Amino acid sequence: MKFSTEPPDLPDCPPLVQRPSAHFDQRPEGEVISLLVIHNISLPAGSFASAPQQDSYVDALFCGKLDCQVHPDFHSLQGVRVAAHCVIWRDGSIFQYVPFARRAWHAGQSTFAGRANCNDFSIGIELEGGDNIPYTEQQYHSLVALSHYLLARYKDITPQRIVGHCDIAPGRKTDPGPAFDWPAYHAALASQRV
Ligand SMILES: [Zn+2]
Repeated sequence: MKFSTEPPDLPDCPPLVQRPSAHFDQRPEGEVISLLVIHNISLPAGSFASAPQQDSYVDALFCGKLDCQVHPDFHSLQGVRVAAHCVIWRDGSIFQYVPFARRAWHAGQSTFAGRANCNDFSIGIELEGGDNIPYTEQQYHSLVALSHYLLARYKDITPQRIVGHCDIAPGRKTDPGPAFDWPAYHAALASQRV
């Protein structure tokens, strides 16, 4: 069982609302989780869900229940099967769609340090947002807490192995965009790790 092997000094994981997604499979045999990928998403672009986020379009997309006819922007999402491990909403609440040990379908065609298919060895976290829209304080707070937990649990994820989707799929993806404050995030993470 996974839990029995966790070190006793593991920091608390922030509360995760469990949501059912089928958009994952097994990681390759013996694969070590060693990368954290930060994304953003909003549906339609730039519009944000209010609580309960279970009723949002993003939640529906990740759970495979989005009606792609309700908005013209969704037509291209017909048949698309994606999910990140977690979504951090504007209010800082966190939903989990895929267990961390499983391979979520979040990165698509991607490469990190010469290795392709980043889904194999990464955890994906979506921030509800847009590339040029400042993220909320609550989102940074939750992201730092979740990252702190994941770095302790998966020792091969280091601060140097936390990247944006834009970094592993350049030219194809731009998230989390210029709005994401990498220095503040890394500083907050470092202060928690002391
Ligand atoms: Zn992304």
